[in-house]
Amino acid sequence: NAARKPLIAGNWKMNGLGASAPEFVRIVGAYQGSLKNVVDIMVFPPATLLTSFATSTRGAGVIVGAQDCHPAPSGAHTGDISAEMIADAGGKAVIVGHSERRAEHGETDAIVRAKAEAALRAGLVAVICVGETEEDRDAGKAFEVVERQLEGSVPNAARAKTVVVAYEPVWAIGTGVTPTVEEVAEMHGRIRRALQARFGAEGEGMRILYGGSVKPDNAAELLRAGNVDGALVGGASLKADDFLAIAQAA
Ligand code: PEP
Repeated sequence: NAARKPLIAGNWKMNGLGASAPEFVRIVGAYQGSLKNVVDIMVFPPATLLTSFATSTRGAGVIVGAQDCHPAPSGAHTGDISAEMIADAGGKAVIVGHSERRAEHGETDAIVRAKAEAALRAGLVAVICVGETEEDRDAGKAFEVVERQLEGSVPNAARAKTVVVAYEPVWAIGTGVTPTVEEVAEMHGRIRRALQARFGAEGEGMRILYGGSVKPDNAAELLRAGNVDGALVGGASLKADDFLAIAQAA
């Protein structure tokens, strides 16, 4: 869909020290060439690197964001970071509801939705993750699970410019296994219909990313599937060469 600019997003997870800065600077440098016209790029470093990355991308167009936020703007929540703090640090986006947070921190759809609402309140783009487990898929419940997550996790205030949906089957994350192109297209079609039913033209304009073991050698094929508007990349986003190769495939 020509109306939706492709988006390649890199989730660094709990990886990256000050010494990783040159890797990010290479991404910023490459992006300022021809890539900028054809693809949006977001990088989600650990929160410790957010300020320095936001400073080095200034003016270059690479969007920097955080991997999670607390629903409240401030308060007694030791160890948490608010959406307002992310914006204050120069972040423009935040991932919410990643399957690792749903699993390791017990985040429910209601919590993810509150976090997405916080992102919108602070003027950040919310990248909302959904995806079924292997058990769900084997039980024939993949569509049902993802549609329920969408319904529960995406706020009513979502708009094409403020929300990105990332479909990440849990069994494909970090495993090297991906769904087939047909399976990706089928799920993304379902997600598109659900977004259109709820948000009309805004739902048509929302970008839907595929995530789970996207690598330079499978990116082009996965990105060509229907209703795939980009990728959320974990492992392969840590090396500038691999990440840029994926961006080039978009
Ligand atoms: C992710 O966790 O967002 C992800 C897609 O990871 P990987 O690319 O490593 O499978």
